[in-house]
Amino acid sequence: MTTETVKVLRATFRDGRTKSIAFRVEQLNALKRLVVENAEMIMEALKSDLGKCKMESVLIELDLIENDINDAIKNVYNWSKPEYVHKTLLYKAMSCYIHKEPLGVVLIIGAWNYPIQLTLLPLIGAIVAGNCAIVKPSEVSPKTAEALEQLIPKYLDNDCYRVVVGGVTETTELLEQKFDKIFYTGSGNVGRIVMAAAAKHLTPVALELGGKSPTYVADDADLKVSANRIVWAKLLNCGQTCVAPDFIMCSKEIQEPLAEQLKETIEAFYGRVVADSPDYGKIVNERHFDRLEALLSDVDDIFFGGLRNKDERFFSPTILLNVKTDARCMQEEIFGPILPIIPVESEDEALEYVLSQPKPLSLYVFSNSGETIQKWRCATTSGMFAANDACLQGGLPTLPFGGVGASGMGTYHGKFSFDCFTHQKSCLEAPVRLVEGANHKMRYPPYSDKKLEWARWVISGKGGVCNIL
Ligand code: NAD
Repeated sequence: MTTETVKVLRATFRDGRTKSIAFRVEQLNALKRLVVENAEMIMEALKSDLGKCKMESVLIELDLIENDINDAIKNVYNWSKPEYVHKTLLYKAMSCYIHKEPLGVVLIIGAWNYPIQLTLLPLIGAIVAGNCAIVKPSEVSPKTAEALEQLIPKYLDNDCYRVVVGGVTETTELLEQKFDKIFYTGSGNVGRIVMAAAAKHLTPVALELGGKSPTYVADDADLKVSANRIVWAKLLNCGQTCVAPDFIMCSKEIQEPLAEQLKETIEAFYGRVVADSPDYGKIVNERHFDRLEALLSDVDDIFFGGLRNKDERFFSPTILLNVKTDARCMQEEIFGPILPIIPVESEDEALEYVLSQPKPLSLYVFSNSGETIQKWRCATTSGMFAANDACLQGGLPTLPFGGVGASGMGTYHGKFSFDCFTHQKSCLEAPVRLVEGANHKMRYPPYSDKKLEWARWVISGKGGVCNIL
């Protein structure tokens, strides 16, 4: 079945349909209509899977897709046209350029926490770059997967874009196929499985993984503003956000005042009874609920929250104080509304800890000092970095979105999505007769010291770099 699907897409890719810019624009417009015309149905699915409120569904799922499509349509001609390069003297009479070529048939494995944008944003990249694609939505958000399975065939060209739904069995079957790129969003553990499967075919991968995104709050930070931004970022989608602040490190002196501010902010944002807030989401399923509960098993200092109701998949915002780095909640990415605070003796202790851990997807620093911000930015490595805010870096399409090291490889959003699914082919077109005399003087055997001297002078660019296109 999967083999057949890949065969159909391969045949389509070979017939060249997806290479036409007009076709790409048509399909992108169709994808936009899919999102706009079915916004209500999609929002209902998001509500059912994750308790997602309207504001988060519109801004962080639907609008993000629509804006990315508009950007892709506006720029597809520019992004796709040949890029002529600077030339040294040797190449003066030749035409040298980068031809932007689609990779072929690609596989996109989406994630469940933002199940629309994490599936469709890579698809936009695949389409705008001229590829055929198989999309595999996550089975963990079943209603949204169902919506995509129903809608994509209605709007997009079925010979070019297909949806495969299912779980581990279906993903495993897909991974046996040969693709021209695999774009995977999810955990590092499955990321390893994806990469091992891709290696068998020498298929390139983009891995959008997770991990713990640390947050350092300096003594000079504005605690009220920091609390607003940390709470907003941490509790979006009930903490199930790959770039959410995972834990906070700060000095012992500001730990309690900061925790007080966080608590006040949570109550101001979601009310005293968070369970009644229409803006607060729910945990995606029982397995993740149990996983989060287990993270609290060795905690004896719950400063705030800790309330939960498994039937409703409700897990309240939970702040933990005096957390040690060997606590259970520090051994894996939390991916839920638990926020541990680790008191440190010094900024350097916090920095050392971060440096001793796998490279995070995002790193956050809250401080009023430019020096502190620069120190953290330059001394650490992370996929993304933000100072005095969190998560927002993921919303600007001119910034690449992606991890480094354990948090992933490859970036996307905006033009980066186009690049992610594009092969940059180096092209050189030489005139037939024009330079043949010079070739005999310095390039073709029989070689001589004189020829070597000329050739080195011309190749080194000492003969001048010219910008003639
Ligand atoms: P996951 O990695 O467990 O599963 C995702 C997909 O992999 C599903 O389609 C599933 O069918 C498939 N899968 C699971 N086990 C498999 C196996 N053994 N063989 C083959 N396929 C298998 O998803 P998850 O762990 O629930 O996702 C959460 C993680 O994803 C977090 O770490 C989070 O940070 C990360 N994430 C990252 C981003 C990002 O953009 N970087 C976005 C969202 C989530």
